[in-house]
Amino acid sequence: MVQELREIEAKTGIDAWEETIREPKVEKLVVSLNEVGSSLEPAFDLEHGYRYPEAEELLEESPFEAAQTLAKLSGSGILDKELHDKSLSCPKCSSPNISINYICPYDGSKDITKDSLLTHLVCGYIDSRSKFIQEEEGLACPRCKQTLTPGSYRITGSWSQCNVCNRRLETLSTGHRCRKCGHEFTFEEAKFDDSFVYTLNQQVREEISRGLLYLSQFRKTLEDNGYTITTPPNLKDPSGMEYNFDIVAGDSKGITISVDINFSDIPFTRDQIIEKFGKYSATNKTSILVLVPKLESEINKLAESIGMVITQADSPAGALHQFSERVSKLKAEKQEKKSRGWSPFGGLMKRARR
Ligand SMILES: [Zn+2]
Ligand SMILES: [Zn+2]
Ligand SMILES: [Zn+2]
Repeated sequence: MVQELREIEAKTGIDAWEETIREPKVEKLVVSLNEVGSSLEPAFDLEHGYRYPEAEELLEESPFEAAQTLAKLSGSGILDKELHDKSLSCPKCSSPNISINYICPYDGSKDITKDSLLTHLVCGYIDSRSKFIQEEEGLACPRCKQTLTPGSYRITGSWSQCNVCNRRLETLSTGHRCRKCGHEFTFEEAKFDDSFVYTLNQQVREEISRGLLYLSQFRKTLEDNGYTITTPPNLKDPSGMEYNFDIVAGDSKGITISVDINFSDIPFTRDQIIEKFGKYSATNKTSILVLVPKLESEINKLAESIGMVITQADSPAGALHQFSERVSKLKAEKQEKKSRGWSPFGGLMKRARR
């Protein structure tokens, strides 16, 4: 039962991010991260605090929106995050442009003097720094009048003094002042935000290499060539039996094209080819099979001999490129055949089978 629930949970998790990742702007960001293989590092500016300029550009969002989107993508497991920095901002106006003041813990005064105890090693004189004589070339010893040079004195201790209550202070409190709106606030009141470095989750990266993000690009290729995507992507054979494809698309002339896309680590087998051929023959439309990796040569010969239209490459990007060329060629062929009075229905299959 627990196992079952976990499986359901795991499944909804994946479904959730698969859906999110196909939002066009998210897809653009993820594809870019996947191709460059880099992480999204925040940049700091005094207007926005930490922001993500690359993400803002890819997502076409404001600094705030982009940061929200990245947080959402990390929440759904698409991005992994790692703490980059913690930053303070004004609780009143959210500006990150704040100054930090050290203040007296007794009266909150900012009027603090820092002092230290110096030992002049040459003559052994010890006193607070303020008692040494300030000369043009530096501090001089009040006893022997020599100018202090590096190595001739030692800082024995340092402390601060409040000029309001005149207390010597071992530790100071911190106060903050917003440079934008002037609001003064304590650390407790400050907005304390985390900023992260985001990277593409490894599992997502693997899914992308298996073609997760390419389906929409294959669809777009067809749309760019004048096809309308059919949903659900099913076709029936003459007996009414339904077959499922990755994409089915039609154009205004009633021409239907079906596409199956298989990205894998191992090449398609003979049985898989035969199975696809059965489906394509039954549905009798122009069918394109997209494969990564390429077929082994024997199986490729078989596929060619039975007239299958296969777009194959070593990478999903390569397959997409070839597919795109194939579809535009198909369009050109269709036009040519039409002018010769040919029926382009299932044209590719028939022509290849002659
Ligand atoms: Zn403020
Ligand atoms: Zn001295
Ligand atoms: Zn004080």
